[in-house]
Amino acid sequence: MPTNKPKESFARWISKVAMPLWGIRAGLYITAQHLFRKKITVQYPEQRLEIDPSYRAKISLLNEPGSHAEICISCKQCENICPVGCITIIPKVDENKKRHVGTFDVDLSRCLFCGMCEEICPEFCIVLDEVFDYSSYSRDGLYLTVSGLTRDASDQEWRAMVEVKEAKKREAEAKKKAREEAKKKQEEEDAKKKAEEGEQN
Ligand code: SF4
Ligand code: SF4
Repeated sequence: MPTNKPKESFARWISKVAMPLWGIRAGLYITAQHLFRKKITVQYPEQRLEIDPSYRAKISLLNEPGSHAEICISCKQCENICPVGCITIIPKVDENKKRHVGTFDVDLSRCLFCGMCEEICPEFCIVLDEVFDYSSYSRDGLYLTVSGLTRDASDQEWRAMVEVKEAKKREAEAKKKAREEAKKKQEEEDAKKKAEEGEQN
């Protein structure tokens, strides 16, 4: 029985059948290529990527390795420089007027991870670690006190701290020596000038 249905044009056939088939072929080609490439997916949290040491995440307060002795002198410089005021320090002062860590809290929910606290610390004992997965279901869980912040410095961190402190000490001593020498030279020149003026009179 004859029908009046018009025949599909070739262009219409291309758009309905050939194009989707071409798309599937291209997708399968890319999938096949990736089958033989090095896998980049890791099974987190069992497997972890190596994070660059310069990455700035959770804040830690370092103690001496081995002895666990406090390095922080509770000078409050980190608290004062923090642009969002998320560090709270209330030092404990002993009978010799020496400061120790008393209250040391950091509200990580407000931290900008700017690293200014780390940079200003004269003892190099506050650091921003690479630990990024410390999420919490509540804001309170991101409010860390001394126990949540403190850890022993690694041997590498400790060596770096000692080296930088010694370098700074040497630099300060050299500056002091240079100032003293300049003062002495000035005094000698003044004395010489005075003597010459005395001779002329
Ligand atoms: S700047 Fe350093 S030494 Fe001073 S209170 Fe902060 S962490 Fe402690
Ligand atoms: S990293 Fe910046 S914002 Fe965070 S505690 Fe240190 S100074 Fe404050």
